[in-house]
Amino acid sequence: MRTIQSPASLQREMLHLRASGQRVGFVPTMGFLHDGHLSLMRLARAQCDHLVVSIFVNPLQFGPNEDLDRYPRDPEGDAAKCASVGVDTLFLPETLYDDDHRTTVSVAGLTSGLCGTSRPGHFDGVTTVVARLFGVVQPHIAVFGQKDYQQLAVIKRMVRDLALPVEVIGGPLIRDTDGLALSSRNKYLDAEARRRALSLRRALQAIKDHPSADVAERLATGRATLEADRVDYLDIVHPDTLKPLDEIDGPARALVAAWIGNTRLIDNLEL
Ligand code: AMP
Repeated sequence: MRTIQSPASLQREMLHLRASGQRVGFVPTMGFLHDGHLSLMRLARAQCDHLVVSIFVNPLQFGPNEDLDRYPRDPEGDAAKCASVGVDTLFLPETLYDDDHRTTVSVAGLTSGLCGTSRPGHFDGVTTVVARLFGVVQPHIAVFGQKDYQQLAVIKRMVRDLALPVEVIGGPLIRDTDGLALSSRNKYLDAEARRRALSLRRALQAIKDHPSADVAERLATGRATLEADRVDYLDIVHPDTLKPLDEIDGPARALVAAWIGNTRLIDNLEL
């Protein structure tokens, strides 16, 4: 595995690789890697000749009072994990944007609810960095986790609307043995916080198990199960449009974002 820091050098290399007929796979991350990230890399590995993983904590997707400055980092551990799953190129840019960067990529509609409500500007930061990463890495396929379910839908939409020649693949949400969705932010949780964090998954399961077709009834059960300090949202939506449903008579997904102390966690479950 080689490590490249310069976006311009990486782009040159990738254009060569593409021209020589290699199929390029890409997994973008913010580092502090866990088995959720590694599952995406394995998925991509099986479908490409050359696998690129990026680690970049993207300032554009953090709000002013969010955890950009304390976001956990482990560059050496991350590199070892990437090597262990067969990553070919680890892209570790110090910065990704030129000083005079002026472009924002913004997807309307899908970004207005759920995390878009509680994190204004977040998805513009995500689509802008992913569009730029796609430009640098030139991947044929890119794998994103269903853990960030809304993000996956937004990126698929961006790729479709901009006719980007990238196949976006969603990888399953990976959980710890106790059921907690794996997240770099779980590092912030002490034992008591982790115990309460497990209520996110339990709330989603209670919503799934509830026999009623009525969404309000199911959500009430879910809310009663949550042991969070604050709930940004607990919703049942259509899996493609992400529009809130009143009644469940077809495909549906429950999504939650909630705070345990100073830590904001998200989770979701197909119903
Ligand atoms: P992040 O480093 O948090 O920006 O995440 C990088 C990628 O890993 C995104 O596509 C996430 O959706 C994905 N990811 C994070 N946690 C998980 C998980 N528990 N299971 C599956 N994918 C995940």
